[in-house]
Amino acid sequence: MLRPKPLAPCLWSCRASPLAGELSDLRAREAASRRAPRLESLVWQATNLCNLRCRHCCVAQRPRIDLDTASARKVFDNIARTVEPGQVSVGISGGEPTIRRDLAEMVRHMLDAGFSGVGLASNGFLLGQHRERLDELVKAGLGSLNLSLDGPAEYHNALRRHPKAYDLAISALVHALRFYSEVLEVVVTISVSPGNFQTYPIILELLEQLGVPYVKIVAVMPYGEAEHAADLGLSDEQFVQLLENATRIRRCFDAGETPMRVSMTDDGFLGCFEGASRDGFLNCPAGVDTAAILQDGRLSACAQMTQPFSVAGDLRSESFASLWKDGFREFRNRRWLHKGMCSRCVEWRYCQGGSMHDRAADGTPLRCNALRVRRALEARARAAAGPKRVPRATAR
Ligand code: SF4
Ligand code: SF4
Repeated sequence: MLRPKPLAPCLWSCRASPLAGELSDLRAREAASRRAPRLESLVWQATNLCNLRCRHCCVAQRPRIDLDTASARKVFDNIARTVEPGQVSVGISGGEPTIRRDLAEMVRHMLDAGFSGVGLASNGFLLGQHRERLDELVKAGLGSLNLSLDGPAEYHNALRRHPKAYDLAISALVHALRFYSEVLEVVVTISVSPGNFQTYPIILELLEQLGVPYVKIVAVMPYGEAEHAADLGLSDEQFVQLLENATRIRRCFDAGETPMRVSMTDDGFLGCFEGASRDGFLNCPAGVDTAAILQDGRLSACAQMTQPFSVAGDLRSESFASLWKDGFREFRNRRWLHKGMCSRCVEWRYCQGGSMHDRAADGTPLRCNALRVRRALEARARAAAGPKRVPRATAR
């Protein structure tokens, strides 16, 4: 049972901790790798369509413009000719990729082209409904499966606007764990909003009982559909409590008290929670060792980004080699991001601008999770100090 112990309120005092030195060294290594970028991770946004209409989806659904099978195969062949495919893993995302009938064929094609491994992110709906689809994918060589599960059934179904979404996702998960735990890395991602803030620990306990080895946690981000749903955003205090809980569970894992590893996802620099609440420190690899094939065949630095500067060009008509070489300059020199609130921030040295998905089209930062953390911790400190004494007016 997950019974994490209480946590000290602040985990490292940024500049005093040895972690700060470790983080500075890491940033120096990252700056060097930006000067010699090499593709290691490729995301294929296989479709922008989905069989659910989740309120927190960060992909705004547009008319379907997916590559057909032949064009998708050509795009992967184009890339495999340029890079060392054995050094590159592929992650398939969407929309909901399982609505493509050619998915198993594409997995096999990527592995035949030499890519080192293929993973899939899915809502689990079709895989739960037709479990033989998962059998086909595993037979084709699928190496990892990331399913989304957001809370107890009522909340999950309301958020995903379908009465069977929860049962089918659980069915897919149980099938994957029961038959394929030896060959498939199974991961579950939980999105947390005020609606499941109290109840997501119930899902964590269930996942531990089911034997899920790895869980990723993300606070709902204000992009895509969620941009217009203010009720899905956590308060600063809730956000810090989420980070504290993830940190506690990670400590239980390190101490051998739970077999389930938990990590916050890569969403922005987390200030004093870096190095504690997620695996490693935030490193936004977009355009440096990561790229994404968008559903229509354009090459982007990251599938989570919609800013014009994130798209290098069109893989249907241009070679990957030239797009990779010249198309991602904005990602390989971070000085131009030192603007807006970042230009006044003492954390810049450690953060280097955080996640590129949090930038406006001109590079200005849109939001900062480290600032949310700081605001919440300062509010706690003020509350602990009690009300300020107002000096009495001196009598004449
Ligand atoms: S832009 Fe965001 S999602 Fe994309 S690689 Fe960077 S941190 Fe990850
Ligand atoms: S304000 Fe900018 S530099 Fe400072 S922590 Fe946030 S993203 Fe990083």
